[in-house]
Amino acid sequence: MPATEEKRCLECGEPLRGRTDKRFCSDGCRNLHHYRINNAPINYVRNVVNALKRNRRVLAELNNGPEGKTKVHRDRLLEHGFNFMYHTHVHRTRMGNTYIFCFEQGYLELSENWFMLVRRDEYLERSGDSSARSGAGSAGRPDEQHGHRDTDQGE
Ligand SMILES: [Zn+2]
Repeated sequence: MPATEEKRCLECGEPLRGRTDKRFCSDGCRNLHHYRINNAPINYVRNVVNALKRNRRVLAELNNGPEGKTKVHRDRLLEHGFNFMYHTHVHRTRMGNTYIFCFEQGYLELSENWFMLVRRDEYLERSGDSSARSGAGSAGRPDEQHGHRDTDQGE
């Protein structure tokens, strides 16, 4: 079988001539290729973080009920750009309901297409924890030890 299969630059796809071990047509393409590979994880993380932020914003915007609860249809969430793939954590209640959270904004699936949006303001009060901890060197946080344990039911 003749070796008609020509090698192409991994970056731009130009046919490669000359040395057979070349992978790129130019230094520029090689640099660009490595730059792209090295930045892929960073870009991925940035995209996920942006999706989480957008989800949080959508939930906050749509959850304008008087008691911090609003029932919305799936289509409204999707219209606003909500992405069901990403959330920060899951909260399962003793009653067996599973709330999905994007930061302090969450939702409970009521039926196939309906969701109850909720908000947990107490999460916001914990936001100072990390900065407070960096100063004092004491071990443990006694104020947390008596907290109610409502998320220990496993996955
Ligand atoms: Zn090239």
